Amino acid sequence: MILRALSAAFALALAASAAAQDAPAVETTDLGHGVYMLATGVAGNVAVSVGADGVWMIDTQMAPIAPGLDAAQKAVSDGAGVRLVLNTHLHGDHVLGNAYFAERGALIMAHTSVRGRLEAPSPNAVTSATPEPLSGGFLPVIGIPGGTEITLNGLTARIHHVPDAHTDGDLWIHFVEADIIHTGDLLFSGLFPFIDLNNGGAVDGMITGLQAIADAAGPDTRIIPGHGPLSTREDVLASLAMLTAARDAVAALAAQGLSLEDVIAAAPLASFHDEWNWRFITTERMTATLYRDATR
Ligand SMILES: [Zn+2]
Ligand SMILES: [Zn+2]
Repeated sequence: MILRALSAAFALALAASAAAQDAPAVETTDLGHGVYMLATGVAGNVAVSVGADGVWMIDTQMAPIAPGLDAAQKAVSDGAGVRLVLNTHLHGDHVLGNAYFAERGALIMAHTSVRGRLEAPSPNAVTSATPEPLSGGFLPVIGIPGGTEITLNGLTARIHHVPDAHTDGDLWIHFVEADIIHTGDLLFSGLFPFIDLNNGGAVDGMITGLQAIADAAGPDTRIIPGHGPLSTREDVLASLAMLTAARDAVAALAAQGLSLEDVIAAAPLASFHDEWNWRFITTERMTATLYRDATR
């Protein structure tokens, strides 16, 4: 589980180093109704809707992986090119394949806030590294405010925006008839979530987003998380319960006036460590994010 997910923070480093290495294999999962999950385990999970109207791809991972994603979708679309791309949010491990597909004719869509943030990036809230500004084919050309419905390939896709959650531009997508949801990075399934406080993210917004997804899902809904394996409503509820309890535990210590160092020493997330800690969002980093959110 730990190595299945790689954060945006590592995306640029991987993009630089992967050019000289073999790109990771793309694992394709057929979810029915022409919807497929494409996963590499090293960047945000991708979905494609394939059918008579053309190929719609949700997120594009990174430049070195884009040709592999394209080959994987062509294998299930009779060789069709990608016509439409939706980015779930601004992070590099979800958008850095955009130019590859734009150069081949795809239109890129994202929340209305994303284009400006890609052109003038803020430092990552956990690593403090500032991504390179993007331009040209990397940038979305269609801004979506949320509350949008797309009818394509015989499916209704409801696109929802959650303000101030993982970032301020998070969209999640509900393929209604297919009973499939792509959460973007509102769900790190089985993992402590990255909450990008420098890009409009907030803990309460993450909780609101997880609740909205849980409310829309049924017991059989297949849920594609931003990171982690194909999931269910139960997994969303587990993340929701963990994050709510973790927020409350850290906020209670912060309210007593403890410093960040003292809160970390008190280990309020100790009971979550074994199940949720991972390489990028360690228990200490999760604690620091919750503390910073509670005290700003
Ligand atoms: Zn991500
Ligand atoms: Zn992200």
